Amino acid sequence: MLAKDIKGLIQSKYAEARENKALSFNDGDTSTKCNSENGMMYWIRFVPTLLTKPEKGDTPANSDPLGKHEPELLVLQDMDVVEREYKLVLNKFPIMPNHSLLITNAYKHQNDMLTPSDLRKCYALLQQVDTSIERHFIIFNCGPESGSSQNHKHLQLLQFLDGFVPFQDRLCNDIEPFLPSIKLPPLQDKFVSFAHFVVPLPELPTEEYLMTCYISLFEYILAFAKHNNEKNEPPVSYNFILTKEWMCLVPRSSIRAQTLPVGFNSIGYLGLVIIKEEDTLLKVKENPDIIDTLLLECGFPNAMKLKHQTF
Ligand code: AMP
Repeated sequence: MLAKDIKGLIQSKYAEARENKALSFNDGDTSTKCNSENGMMYWIRFVPTLLTKPEKGDTPANSDPLGKHEPELLVLQDMDVVEREYKLVLNKFPIMPNHSLLITNAYKHQNDMLTPSDLRKCYALLQQVDTSIERHFIIFNCGPESGSSQNHKHLQLLQFLDGFVPFQDRLCNDIEPFLPSIKLPPLQDKFVSFAHFVVPLPELPTEEYLMTCYISLFEYILAFAKHNNEKNEPPVSYNFILTKEWMCLVPRSSIRAQTLPVGFNSIGYLGLVIIKEEDTLLKVKENPDIIDTLLLECGFPNAMKLKHQTF
């Protein structure tokens, strides 16, 4: 059973931590753009303070900043008052206010799969924090190329910007929930360049239902990695995104793009693009369509892609 009023607890801890400078967040330049060829909405955020955030490989092997969290960032030692598997900690380098981490109390590796109980807790958390005007999502960056920077198993809770519509919403619009199988593949947008697999969820999915969705999407990731990854070495890298309405998995080939110095984790595949350098920001704002190329460079080609449609 989840603790009560988790959103209120996050908000008051965040205000306190910001006041005490236990975390720093600069609400810098933010804009929304739409890709002219595929209609994907982008939320471009300039966050130069993230230049100090440790990237993959920066944290020494014997150090575990998520396991040994800073006390000023702790929201709840036990997010679930009965099962006590996860603690809730504020992200020290937030990309938006109230950006929180769900971290396993006992050490588990970030390359581990999600469990049925992880999925149940995540869904219950979204049910608790979503309102008619505030919508949230949970991400899990898994594998060496997924954009994950910390090895201690963690998921992240974030909120959509008001009015932001990720392409997955468009894809699931008016589609009845179904369990993907070989005969009934997951949904794939025909216009974005990168491979992704999406499944719409029913209103109150059980733990078993969520796990079946996750495993079926994961099987697509595995099959995809076998065909497309020359190295074909485990662990596979993928991004996991959960909203109350759908689940999405994206196979990943690289943390960073080649055309511009931009890296992505799961949030990139929702269209949230975090930029740390000013000249990159200028280039992306000048030509937002380039984001589709950057996402492809960090993922794999979308086998379902059709040619142009102008939005
Ligand atoms: P990921 O990069 O997906 O592995 O997520 C790890 C998250 O932990 C990042 O978003 C970092 O901003 C955050 N982080 C890094 N160090 C700390 C720390 N000492 N306390 C809290 N959060 C941290």
